[in-house]
Amino acid sequence: MRQHLDPGTVKLTIRQRLELALVGQTFFAMEKPPGYSDYTPMYVVKCKRHGLTKVSPHGFYDMVGCPECDDEIHSQLVRRMAQNANST
Ligand SMILES: [Zn+2]
Repeated sequence: MRQHLDPGTVKLTIRQRLELALVGQTFFAMEKPPGYSDYTPMYVVKCKRHGLTKVSPHGFYDMVGCPECDDEIHSQLVRRMAQNANST
């Protein structure tokens, strides 16, 4: 689950803003997104390239990171694997 946030409208506390500035992510709230059977912790991540995104922990080890960057890394890996498969 991910949702882009408009930095101008999203309401964050001073503490959350500080954490975003220092570590690039902060706990936002417990929410129950559509399709989820239970409440899940939502985080706000700040990315230099993609801005603010609200995410639930995802991927290996339930990491919290910029989902757009994750997608790029993933598609690069897939492309590289396809190239390797072709060259052998
Ligand atoms: Zn990003």
